Amino acid sequence: MDILEKIFEAGVVGAGGAGFPTHIKLDGVAEYLLVNAVECEPLLETDKFITRHKSEEIIKAMEIMGNHIQAKEMVIGLKKKNTKEIQALREAIQCLKSKVTLHLVENFYPAGDEQMLVYEITKRQVPPGGIPKDVGVVVCNVGTVVNIYEALNEKPVTHKLVTILGEVKNPSMVYAPIGTPIEKCIEMVGGPTIQAYRIVLGGPMMGRVIEKSQLNQEVVTKTTGGIIVLPEEHFMLRDKQQDLTQMINRSRSTCIQCSLCTDLCPRNLIGHPLRPHRIMRTLSGDKEQYGVLKEALLCCECGVCEVYACPMGQTPKNINVEIKNLLRQEGIRYSDTSVKNEVNGMREYRKVPAERLLARLELSGYADQVKDGYCSIEPHRVKIPLKQHIGKPATPIVEVGSLVEKGQLIARVNAGDLGANIHASMQGVVSEINEFIWIEAGEKAVIQ
Ligand code: SF4
Ligand code: SF4
Repeated sequence: MDILEKIFEAGVVGAGGAGFPTHIKLDGVAEYLLVNAVECEPLLETDKFITRHKSEEIIKAMEIMGNHIQAKEMVIGLKKKNTKEIQALREAIQCLKSKVTLHLVENFYPAGDEQMLVYEITKRQVPPGGIPKDVGVVVCNVGTVVNIYEALNEKPVTHKLVTILGEVKNPSMVYAPIGTPIEKCIEMVGGPTIQAYRIVLGGPMMGRVIEKSQLNQEVVTKTTGGIIVLPEEHFMLRDKQQDLTQMINRSRSTCIQCSLCTDLCPRNLIGHPLRPHRIMRTLSGDKEQYGVLKEALLCCECGVCEVYACPMGQTPKNINVEIKNLLRQEGIRYSDTSVKNEVNGMREYRKVPAERLLARLELSGYADQVKDGYCSIEPHRVKIPLKQHIGKPATPIVEVGSLVEKGQLIARVNAGDLGANIHASMQGVVSEINEFIWIEAGEKAVIQ
């Protein structure tokens, strides 16, 4: 098997949250291979942990990946302040005599946004609506690179390292089989310390809010990075709960068109024609300008406009998310990739300092909760989604009653289709198949 076949067979997808199938990303040639170890979401520790403890695997995998795509430069982007991670990588580079270099960025948000990183390292602008490959760059998250290393040794993706913090007894990193219920992960760190809480799945800026009542439906997937337990009255959660009509009504009554959301928008600052204040104005009744709504397709959902910039508590990011969904349902894509503005000369001065952002989010009290090390969880049951990635769901190749071993292929996609294979994350018996494959451990599952 060649490298792409091994990555495809192992079901590797972007571990940083996007879930794009990695064998497709690495198909072709590119001048740059960039590895994203920036971890720009406040509070999360997963990528830093991986960088510290898997530095040799990262460099070895990068050499093979770089060779495959014929990269002239192989660079890892990470924050200047993360000195332990920098040291671990430098030692690995020296020990392996590798050509990989490090690029250190300041502590701003969203330094880990793929297109920010491409600009910071290469000074190339990804065109609006485009992808890094359009400018000769392949970007992979550091967790994905470790999964590639494992895939090259024929180990499929079966587990995920997740940061769990907030209002829990023992904030920690948990190494969980894919399909582990989120509830079990929270139990593993001692459970919540408060009665009235909600969960953010992912980071505080871009994560998804889960009600307590929905918790039993949610499981760890190949892209889960964080589980944050917050008091239900936390202001961030209130903003994430509004529907489109409520948001539009608020924008009509209190958006003062100051344009600060646009002035600080990271995508606007790298020259993309995305103007959240114009979108807000259009929603307030400027029907002549409906074409402006297409700009929402350029939004990376970083949340700077609503959490940091807006003085009026408006929610331009959430509005953009709703508009994007509506446009995509209509099959509308952003196609005018010829529009190319200069990078804003004020960009350096308008970067959002990560510490100020954390204070603005009222989350400073949760910083540094998670110490080095992790605990492993062994659930009695996992519920593995057939779709944890961009593209088609995988097709089950096991039946109810099948005995499966950890790492066994249980659902697959056809070679050439956009999607990713799925493997059993523990030994057991398949008890149910719907949009998930359920595996139960127990006496019945003993394989002779
Ligand atoms: S920053 Fe807030 S008030 Fe100002 S234009 Fe943007 S949404 Fe409106
Ligand atoms: S969330 Fe706001 S600040 Fe971020 S890219 Fe979208 S419009 Fe710009």
